Amino acid sequence: MKVVIVGGGTAGWWTAGCLEHNFPDWDITLIESKDIPIVGVGESTVPQIGNFLSNIGIEDSHWLANSNALKKYGNRKINWRKSGDDNFDWTFWYNYNKKFEGWAQKFRKGEVDLDSLNDFYDPNDWSGYAYHVDAFEMGRMVKDHCKNVKHVYATLTEKPEADLVFDCSGFAARFVEDKTKQHYPHTIIDRAFVGPHEPRDDLPMVTQSIGRDYGWQFIVKLKNRVGVGYVYSSRHVSDEDAYKEFEEMIDEGGFVPMGLPSEANSYNDKHMFFKWEPHALTNPWSGNVVAIGTTAGFIDPLEANALFHIQHGIETFVKCWKRGYGKKTYNKAVRISWNNTVDLMKHHYALSDRDDTEFWRYWDCCREECRQSVWDNYEKRHNLETNLYPSSIWATMAAYFDEWKRAPF
Ligand SMILES: Cc1cc2nc3c(=O)[nH]c(=O)nc-3n(C[C@H](O)[C@H](O)[C@H](O)COP(=O)(O)OP(=O)(O)OC[C@H]3O[C@@H](n4cnc5c(N)ncnc54)[C@H](O)[C@@H]3O)c2cc1C
Repeated sequence: MKVVIVGGGTAGWWTAGCLEHNFPDWDITLIESKDIPIVGVGESTVPQIGNFLSNIGIEDSHWLANSNALKKYGNRKINWRKSGDDNFDWTFWYNYNKKFEGWAQKFRKGEVDLDSLNDFYDPNDWSGYAYHVDAFEMGRMVKDHCKNVKHVYATLTEKPEADLVFDCSGFAARFVEDKTKQHYPHTIIDRAFVGPHEPRDDLPMVTQSIGRDYGWQFIVKLKNRVGVGYVYSSRHVSDEDAYKEFEEMIDEGGFVPMGLPSEANSYNDKHMFFKWEPHALTNPWSGNVVAIGTTAGFIDPLEANALFHIQHGIETFVKCWKRGYGKKTYNKAVRISWNNTVDLMKHHYALSDRDDTEFWRYWDCCREECRQSVWDNYEKRHNLETNLYPSSIWATMAAYFDEWKRAPF
């Protein structure tokens, strides 16, 4: 089987590593352009990433010591329930539904406080932590691990000859055959400013997600820097005003910009600027081309979902191929995963009580629907293996946003 992977970002190299591991007889070539840089952001992850790397033979005990990565113990939400709200950590506790229901009874009687929800959390569980990773190292690490993948530098203008082509060319989606897109209602986050800042010892080892006037801010601590970004809705604020707001966040947090590692997507000498059309491909595998990574879709970086979609896309391909399932099954499985991600994003915004800007008032449109479906999701997503965001995440969400009225117990 002759396979060509187009793209040398995280999606390209993770695809190469996973295919080489699972199909040692395949003839795999990865082609990347020297002139088109990788996106170079995306540094917060979910615990499943550790499993993916370990399955292809890369143990975190090794790479954590040799990279700028750090363990991440959860997501700290600030300013989401209402403006000026205190922080609350969403940790990675899993599959203790009965225990959660017992806890919820006590919480509603005022016998325990919200913080005690995290007593279910075990940081030593395999799924108890995720990572903050250097975007440039994530691909490089798998590249160094690959033994038989041929690596070529070239900027392709035509689809390469191969039995299978994996299009990992990023937002350009260069060789995708069927470009039909699924646009989801209420995916209004579509811009970001982001940049590296001087490293800081005083920051917690959680991803901080701070609700802001027109979106949210992230703070991701690595050994060698802190990634700070503002992700927002262009329907509600101009890029110029969003950047002013972002500069205030940088001042307020005492962050010192380090300058940019490359000219890619630079807005100025301190920060990068990204814009995208939130979507996922309806048929990420069409013809002999499989789209992985941002080629296949990108919605909103909230809750660190994008690298997981790379993992899911390639692992699902491997399963389908080994079991003899074709494109139809593959495309359906990938669509389900995107649907679940979009659903979780929507609940994050719609369950908030914030009404201080047009952005937050926008979410009146689906608040009632989300109040019901947060519990529907809690009831049906028990399996951590098949749900990126399992029941415990939905339980945390319902508890955090104080949604007890329709609890099913
Ligand atoms: C603001 C922002 C924040 C994010 N935060 C997170 C996060 O916290 N967590 C998370 O999981 N994800 C996050 N992401 C997503 C994450 O950055 C991407 O999923 C990840 O970097 C994968 O990118 P990629 O490999 O698909 O594409 P890219 O990194 O863009 O790589 C594309 C590759 O294709 C090559 N290429 C393109 N065209 C050609 C051609 N014609 N010929 C040859 N080669 C070509 C390029 O040279 C490059 O090597 C974020 C994204 C953004 C925009």
